[in-house]
Amino acid sequence: MTGKRSNPDALPFWRSKPLSAMTRAEWESLCDGCGRCCLHKLEDEDTGQVHYTEVACLLLDIGSCACSDYPNRRKHVPDCVQLTPEMIPKLTWLPSTCAYRLLWEGKTLAWWHPLVSGDPDAVHRAGISVRGRVITESRADFLDYHIVTWPE
Ligand code: SF4
Ligand code: SF4
Repeated sequence: MTGKRSNPDALPFWRSKPLSAMTRAEWESLCDGCGRCCLHKLEDEDTGQVHYTEVACLLLDIGSCACSDYPNRRKHVPDCVQLTPEMIPKLTWLPSTCAYRLLWEGKTLAWWHPLVSGDPDAVHRAGISVRGRVITESRADFLDYHIVTWPE
């Protein structure tokens, strides 16, 4: 009988491959589902500093913290950023917990990341996701009134 056995000592793909060598499925699986990058942000015209608000993008399901129409999202939200390895260093507003940013910085994934924990709810239990902390666009008046000091 022949057959391939996986090596239990082999490093997982996020530790053995550079971001640019990942397959599409690997790349997509890096997103921890925190929803932090899906909050509206305001940029200070004078300093260039980006401030997060507690107001979610119109497509964000604030219960699951997932995009409600990910495949077609740019039809509804044209400025939704399509992350690529080349873009990561330019997106200075990406949260410090974001898996893409962590790996680009040479760090590894945290215990609550679904790929590490095996549990998609761990990101919520750990208080990393935006669940329970955000409001929908329809409830927001001026974005300036909703600036928050988290996630950073
Ligand atoms: S901040 Fe990063 S890990 Fe969190 S939802 Fe956005 S892309 Fe995914
Ligand atoms: S369109 Fe979807 S992925 Fe893009 S910011 Fe909105 S909720 Fe997030």
